[in-house]
Amino acid sequence: MKILSIETSCDDTGISIMEVHPAHSDGARESATNASFKVLANNVSSQISIHIPHGGVFPALAKREHIKNLPIILEKTLKEAELEKEKNPIDLITVTCGPGLEPTLWTGITFAQELSKQWKVPIMSVNHMEGHIFSVFIKDKKKFEIPEIKYPILSLLVSGGHTELVLIKKWMDYKIIGETLDDAVGEAFDKVARMLGLPYPGGPQISKLAEKEREHLKEVENFLGPRFPGSLSQPDHKKSSTSSHAKISLPRPMLHSKNFDFSFSGLKTAVLYLIRDINLIKKLDQKTKAQIALEFENAAIECLVHKTAKAIEKYKIKTLIVAGGVSANKHLKNEIKKITTAKAGQAGSKIKLLFPPKELTGDNSLMIGVAGYLNYIKNKKKVPEMDSVKAVGNLRL
Ligand code: AMP
Ligand code: MG
Repeated sequence: MKILSIETSCDDTGISIMEVHPAHSDGARESATNASFKVLANNVSSQISIHIPHGGVFPALAKREHIKNLPIILEKTLKEAELEKEKNPIDLITVTCGPGLEPTLWTGITFAQELSKQWKVPIMSVNHMEGHIFSVFIKDKKKFEIPEIKYPILSLLVSGGHTELVLIKKWMDYKIIGETLDDAVGEAFDKVARMLGLPYPGGPQISKLAEKEREHLKEVENFLGPRFPGSLSQPDHKKSSTSSHAKISLPRPMLHSKNFDFSFSGLKTAVLYLIRDINLIKKLDQKTKAQIALEFENAAIECLVHKTAKAIEKYKIKTLIVAGGVSANKHLKNEIKKITTAKAGQAGSKIKLLFPPKELTGDNSLMIGVAGYLNYIKNKKKVPEMDSVKAVGNLRL
């Protein structure tokens, strides 16, 4: 069967087409994973350049752009999949219904409903966060299957709107065990970037700046030895600063709280006050910006990694999935790998670590296609009434 998928939860307009076949005729696998996916076409149109002047996503503008882009991207996608001449090219439509910006979600849903009427095919609505979880299995432009997965699974979902630790004890059964109490980690990256005068989206910009400063400190450490006061090898963040001359230290909110929740708003405010104080005595120069970016990234990632490690211990996790836009962050990847490498040495505690391919860390419709198809099979091919498909901005897993 051919699946057309639509994603419009924020500022990316995504449309893709996949072909799905049963992969194992012997019935040896769980029926829901008994599928082989092939990507026929995948397009994402980013609105970044339109939102840059606003320093973030402007919902009314995003909606307008989705409405403008959807028919254009559909035509392109059908052409690439060589289906443009078919009268009934698609067997199932999957569309994101939340969480996200309601006005933009509605553009995707309404578009899906129109196509559903035209082609007389069912619609499956999809939770965007479930999509991010399944993004780790996708191979863009290639055939792929969902492999056998060892339970329990822990999923760290980190994006512009969400920061969640999700426990999955069985197939497609989700329990949020921890989440941010205020800002999402991606949002904090974006806001801090704005304070430092970096363009939207700020995550990759902060990361680039921090990475350069980290490399520089490593070189200095190699030259002067690990006892250098700003040394990276000092484990306690209170002792470590980002350099010997500027003792920049930011808080790690909720690092030692007993639960698995996060908080990033205090960290963001600490950066705001730090910049204000620095500005009182000198101009915020490029070097100081890099030091702030590094310390902010270290603090934010330490909070994510610490709680993830704690949850791995408590729930005896066998598979760790890290997904969402912030999963593209190099420092996060390295620090997460350290936990799983440490566990690999302990008998019986090996953890399979899964990240999405870099190009699928952000919002895309392929992940919506996979999650939609698997829900379609799980629901025994029962789909919601077309008119009951609704945008739910704060939809939870
Ligand atoms: P999503 O909401 O899943 O589309 O993810 C978008 C968010 O991911 C934005 O807040 C970006 O700033 C953030 N992001 C993307 N790449 C990186 C990165 N390398 N480091 C940190 N944050 C990032
Ligand atoms: Mg997302």
